[in-house]
Amino acid sequence: MSNLDREAVPAPCGGRGFVVAEPVRELLSPRRVKLGESTEVRRLLPNLGRRMVGAWCFVDHYGPDDIADEPGMQVPPHPHMGLQTVSWLHEGEVLHRDSTGSLQTIRPRELGLMTSGHAISHSEESPREHSRLLHGAQLWVALPDTHRHTDPRFEHHAELPVVTAPGLRATLLLGTLDGTASPGTTYTPIVGADLALASGADVRLPLEPDFEYAVLAMSGEAHVDGVPVVPGSMLYLGCGRTELPLRATTDAGLMLLGGEPFEEELIMWWNFIGRSNEDIAQARSDWMKGSRFGEVVGYDGAPLTAPELPPGPLKPRGRVR
Ligand code: MN
Repeated sequence: MSNLDREAVPAPCGGRGFVVAEPVRELLSPRRVKLGESTEVRRLLPNLGRRMVGAWCFVDHYGPDDIADEPGMQVPPHPHMGLQTVSWLHEGEVLHRDSTGSLQTIRPRELGLMTSGHAISHSEESPREHSRLLHGAQLWVALPDTHRHTDPRFEHHAELPVVTAPGLRATLLLGTLDGTASPGTTYTPIVGADLALASGADVRLPLEPDFEYAVLAMSGEAHVDGVPVVPGSMLYLGCGRTELPLRATTDAGLMLLGGEPFEEELIMWWNFIGRSNEDIAQARSDWMKGSRFGEVVGYDGAPLTAPELPPGPLKPRGRVR
């Protein structure tokens, strides 16, 4: 998915100053963002006062939407730099195309993981023949300076490892949980896990005290560390935890997002992550000239135009809250 916000505002992020070192329970409300004609998403990251959770720097939750008589998701070709995108569905399907030649249908609880490295472009659409409901999340992971110029690649993992406990089925998207590791390529210590809770579940999830964490609520009624979370909200949990109490009063779907606090300072603008004003301006210029980001073959429609850069320099910022 793309950041289709026409008023693209640069978001400085990263740096230790945003990280809460001890356990907290900070409930984040979503911002509603229109993606084209038919799709509205709830944006949880970046959020007011909360820009990242580990290397996770962008979280959109969408649906469940009834798209039986609609085209559904239609995101034209657009570029990325300096990040990985994670596509995760609970219902429906998304057809992914990218400039490395990928053509892949992504289905519920399959991982679509795209590493942009220095440059990639892609499109995402509901296939012509699609399920009635579309429900999922789109997430970005910032690449560290040591790997942000890597070659672009796309991974599709249909089979993912699962950790179970009574009333819990946790599917590993990225990183490691309770000694079980995802096959997805990662560049920083991180975890992403889908938590399917059965009604009545009352479990404790083992956590890494050095990681910071958040939980995205996608469906059902659950309590995370005693806090009721409604679908479309996210609970930021800080660092310093060895376990996380989870309870569900109906069947519920959550996502656990965590990682080592991301120390490097970043600038996120539109679909790019850079380290300087020049990085971002160069990427925008290259995309508009049709160079560097390759070509997406087969999408029925024109590529996205980048918004105007705001006047003045984009400065990375860290240790300010
Ligand atoms: Mn995208």
